Amino acid sequence: TSKDSGKNKFSVFDLEMNRHQVRRMSLEKDLRKALARSEFMVVYQPKWDSLLNVTVGLEALLRWRHPEHGIISPAEFIPIAEETGLIVPITYWMLHEVCGQNMLWHKAKVASVAVSINMSARMFEGGSLYEVVEEALMRSGLAAHFLELEITESIAMNNMEETVAQLSKLRNLGVRVSLDDFGTGFSSLGNLDEIPVNTLKIDQVFIRKSKMHSKKAIISNIIAIASNLNMEVVAEGVETTEQIELLQSLGCRVMQGFYYGRPMPVNELGQWFIENTA
Ligand code: C2E
Ligand code: MG
Ligand code: MG
Ligand code: MG
Repeated sequence: TSKDSGKNKFSVFDLEMNRHQVRRMSLEKDLRKALARSEFMVVYQPKWDSLLNVTVGLEALLRWRHPEHGIISPAEFIPIAEETGLIVPITYWMLHEVCGQNMLWHKAKVASVAVSINMSARMFEGGSLYEVVEEALMRSGLAAHFLELEITESIAMNNMEETVAQLSKLRNLGVRVSLDDFGTGFSSLGNLDEIPVNTLKIDQVFIRKSKMHSKKAIISNIIAIASNLNMEVVAEGVETTEQIELLQSLGCRVMQGFYYGRPMPVNELGQWFIENTA
């Protein structure tokens, strides 16, 4: 019957698509509804001053609680959000959520630290990032220096004039800026001094392989560049005491990694701050 042949065609089509494509398409469909369904959650990972033993900042990281698949990693859904443009409303939501949460910690005297949010390249294309940041700060009442934007080298270098212009406006507002995953973007170092950045975040690949002489040399030089350009430095992905000792010996004191703390939901951070503040 015609009904059967239709079914056959569909299953042939089905076979031609690999499982990855099927999952991607279904995630994309669900991602479009995720904001409205309140399926996103923010977790916060501490940045730790390893000499003073205090939390000096937090990084906000997105989690998607999918109704069927459970928690989905940003490594899987951020690329879909970027391709579809959904990353823009999602990041706007993050900005309001994170500023509001940080203001609550501040008012309750739980913590007064800057919280950083990761920015995709898309955020610098529409031109309204500044207005949205300003609105999130105003609505929450949070002081601008308690908000930090993490950008990558490729964002900074791709459309440098426009990005630098937007970052300068944000910096004038008092917002902090850091260069994430530093050292992996093959950026031309010659422009680094022209990007308004407070902090270089050394990518975790260097920390993971820091026993290798060559990686140690790169870490050491990133720390020197940061110091010479009056930037702060944060080591990402710190997991062992050996790594901590090495980083300290090279002059890096602020670290972020599983050794000090994993990304945590809001309800765990109150207790965490009680136990980990001077
Ligand atoms: P990232 O910004 O470099 O964030 C650091 C990632 O390293 C986080 O993964 C964190 O959980 C992980 N990490 C921290 N310490 C350690 C460690 O000691 N060992 C290991 N193995 N991993 C560690 P996560 O949360 O899965 O995020 C992955 C990436 O997804 C982020 O890398 C960032 O590029 C992106 N991302 C996450 N949330 C957002 C967001 O809200 N917006 C955008 N645009 N991107 C986001
Ligand atoms: Mg980051
Ligand atoms: Mg990073
Ligand atoms: Mg990364």
